[in-house]
Amino acid sequence: MDTIVVVGGGAAGVAAAEALRAQGFTGSLTLVCGEPELPYDRPPLSKQVLLGTWEPDRARFRPAAHYIDKGIRLVHGLAHALDLTERAVELADGYQLRYDGLIIATGVRPRVLPAGHDLAGVHVLRGLADVAALRSAFAAAGRIVIVGAGFLGMEVAACARALGLEVTVVDPLPQPMIRQVGPLVGAAVADVHRSQGVVVRTGIGVSGLVGADGVVAGVALADGSVLPASCVLVAIGAVPETEWLAGSGLAVGNGVECDEFLRAASGVYAAGDVASWVSPRYRRRMRVEHRMNATEMGGTAAKNLLAEAAGTDLEPFDPVPYFWSDQYKVKIQVHGELSAEAEVTIEEGTVADGKFVAMFRHDGVPAAVLGWNSAARVIGYRKQLLG
Ligand SMILES: Cc1cc2nc3c(=O)[nH]c(=O)nc-3n(C[C@H](O)[C@H](O)[C@H](O)COP(=O)(O)OP(=O)(O)OC[C@H]3O[C@@H](n4cnc5c(N)ncnc54)[C@H](O)[C@@H]3O)c2cc1C
Repeated sequence: MDTIVVVGGGAAGVAAAEALRAQGFTGSLTLVCGEPELPYDRPPLSKQVLLGTWEPDRARFRPAAHYIDKGIRLVHGLAHALDLTERAVELADGYQLRYDGLIIATGVRPRVLPAGHDLAGVHVLRGLADVAALRSAFAAAGRIVIVGAGFLGMEVAACARALGLEVTVVDPLPQPMIRQVGPLVGAAVADVHRSQGVVVRTGIGVSGLVGADGVVAGVALADGSVLPASCVLVAIGAVPETEWLAGSGLAVGNGVECDEFLRAASGVYAAGDVASWVSPRYRRRMRVEHRMNATEMGGTAAKNLLAEAAGTDLEPFDPVPYFWSDQYKVKIQVHGELSAEAEVTIEEGTVADGKFVAMFRHDGVPAAVLGWNSAARVIGYRKQLLG
């Protein structure tokens, strides 16, 4: 294998490129970056960078010299098409990149509301440009309405509150972050935000955005009322960046469909938020939008691409998923997979004390463990998920 192209310069793409070098690949290696800048990390964007405690540059994975040292050629541009037969990626400007091996790591983009997204004052948060726009809006606006109470919406709520804004969060589900942490911990998340002065409106849907003269004026709710707003963050999830693969012949459903080795086709692997794979552990197809998963997938995709070329055994991708969220002084860490229906028990500490470990079980079998300001303790429970 002489030439490898990695498309997508996020956590998964950078991890894949570095792993290829670490595994001894010495051929030509190109990392196609969709953004016109050095690759950067996303979790700090809704935390330190939004708060202003980090300069945006601090979120970059590596300085430019690192990529030169490793022989990783950064090409800035958007992949536009993939030709599996010719083994070529075409960029939007027509530039063609031939490959022997390909890793797809194009991530996701924010989902938007069906109407009103173009109104001035409406924001999403995915990249550095978004965080700069949001910070300017914070400086001008006294209040913000956040549509969507997932971890992103709640992290932004915490930052906006810390910066002195009036904050309302609205979501149709009964508790914030219910899909990620279940109803009991979701209620604790709501309580923390309410104690900080955030208005948490759960259990009510958003019917649209209201604007005047091209500028947002409010968020219309399903009950017919309107929350006035000059700044709105829409944080209602994300969709995989797969349009450029249309017509390529790759199976694309909820993301690029890979087998348990992250292989999408011969010599083609996918990693990170864009990739779904068949999990041996959970015996189903999964797609995970978490930071640690992106790095781990990048590493495994790189290893398996080289193993396929060498004719050696491929390694199944079989992690226990992990994510964290920081809100005010609360650090939430979740290992495993939980659904809102899981039985939950508090194993240590109490919700009232603001320090606890919760175990989630499905039919009595440990499925996930959550630490709330309990980083050291939660690790001890993680091994129960491996049985
Ligand atoms: C604000 C924010 C905060 C987060 N906080 C946490 C957290 O606290 N904990 C946690 O576990 N996870 C968190 N996440 C999730 C985590 O950051 C992601 O799971 C991770 O970044 C995924 O990495 P990725 O490389 O798969 O995708 P991305 O980081 O999205 O990178 C994909 C790259 O591909 C590029 N691209 C897209 N289309 C094309 C194309 N056609 N051609 C070329 N390039 C293209 C994009 O520009 C992007 O640079 C957060 C995410 C966000 C947005």
